[in-house]
Amino acid sequence: MNIEEFRKRGYEVVDYIAKYYQELENFPTLSNVQPGYLSELLPSEAPSTPEDFDVIMKDFNDKIIPGITHWQSPNYFAYFPANSSFPSILGDMLSNMVNCIGFNWICSPACTELETIVMDWLAKMISLPERFLSASNGGGVIQGTASESVLVTLIAAREKKIRMHNSLNPDLLVPKFVAYCSDQTHSSVQKAAIILRIKMHVISSKNFSMDDSLLEETIKNDIKNGLVPIFVCSTIGTTSTGGIDKVEKIAGIAKKYKLWHHVDAAYAGSALVCPEFQYLLEGVENADSFSMNCHKWLLTNFDFSPLWIADRSQLIKALSINPAYLENNATSSGKVCVNERKGKVIDYRDWQIGLGRRFRSLKFWFVARCYGVSGLQTHIRKCIDLAKLFEHFINEDPLFEVAAERTFSLVCFRVKNLGDSEHKLLNDNINSCGVFLTHTVINNLYTLRLCVGSPWTEENHIHKVFEIIKQETKKIKKGQ
Ligand code: PLP
Repeated sequence: MNIEEFRKRGYEVVDYIAKYYQELENFPTLSNVQPGYLSELLPSEAPSTPEDFDVIMKDFNDKIIPGITHWQSPNYFAYFPANSSFPSILGDMLSNMVNCIGFNWICSPACTELETIVMDWLAKMISLPERFLSASNGGGVIQGTASESVLVTLIAAREKKIRMHNSLNPDLLVPKFVAYCSDQTHSSVQKAAIILRIKMHVISSKNFSMDDSLLEETIKNDIKNGLVPIFVCSTIGTTSTGGIDKVEKIAGIAKKYKLWHHVDAAYAGSALVCPEFQYLLEGVENADSFSMNCHKWLLTNFDFSPLWIADRSQLIKALSINPAYLENNATSSGKVCVNERKGKVIDYRDWQIGLGRRFRSLKFWFVARCYGVSGLQTHIRKCIDLAKLFEHFINEDPLFEVAAERTFSLVCFRVKNLGDSEHKLLNDNINSCGVFLTHTVINNLYTLRLCVGSPWTEENHIHKVFEIIKQETKKIKKGQ
């Protein structure tokens, strides 16, 4: 494809994308193809000679689109949202244009420096304490996923503890390490512990919030038994119900027993752009790290998972490795490891698992500038108002009950006097009507979750999804 053809096809693809968004509402949100459908439609080997672009686009439309679950649909209410926005798509197109791999500052100074700037912007937008800003000893880095964020922070916590113990033989010390999360914490935290072979003690929760007294009791017992507590994860906005841990209490315990405290706000962190939610940050001034996902609810296309560290040197010490082939003058001038920045560079390869990294900051830079803070706040507040409307419908209808307290845009609900298998059938039947909801299990009961997050969802979609839920519930009740 030459430049002129790229120009022609580029316009066509942008037209295709615009039309997709115009017609999105009409697609069934959940794809209804069967497993293996695509191998029946596509050849088993790549073409030996070039194919015509029109033919490729036709196949995309006819064969790929039917296998898409439409996360951007206004009728998408499943899991958590995965926001896209046009400024984000356009910013990412420009990132694809330069396609730089920004592992060292010199690999594209703008790639590194814009990342530092937008991470500071975002930290200020959500009112993170100053110690997380790059002008202090902290700073932010864009990870691909919240799972990577927790993995790198657990590595930093492990290495910090090894240094604190001045251990000559870490292989004997590390098996004594223990980390803590709650029974509501996202599975990615347990996964990080599995990867690193660190014991994880799961603390029960009360009202979907970690039981902090039990946390302290468990830590004391573990120390008595010769274990070494190193890390605790608290959550603002759990995946199952949107529950909130008492960050301040957990921060106090973490400080007392010298644990690394990571705050996971993957979903609800976006809501912190609204001052009315910033009370949730109480205690974060004592946390060691904080993560959120702008690719969930802040109008930024996947992948964009900000992680802030209060003491960046911990991450850099844990993840830095300097082979000869990566040496360069900028890196040799010194790294931004401690407070002094002048003449020094950030090499973000020292802040993550991989070496290569995309120019992700561009898309958020476009989003932040096109929407402004006020536009982002409007988006969050609108989603929450729509979730409140849905919650109101559930509360007002004697068929249903709310299953967990709502704070953000997630409503958990059940049909009164209906068993688990009928709830599962109901969930499937609802999803066959063009909308998409998923479930969780609360107190051993199958519970439906409806999360509002698409920028395309309006009041009429909330009315429509409630009518579908009611109609399908009545059908199942009739057949009981
Ligand atoms: N933490 C919470 C609270 C989540 O809800 C999720 C995903 O939904 C994650 C972590 C993991 O996110 P990621 O897919 O970015 O790893």
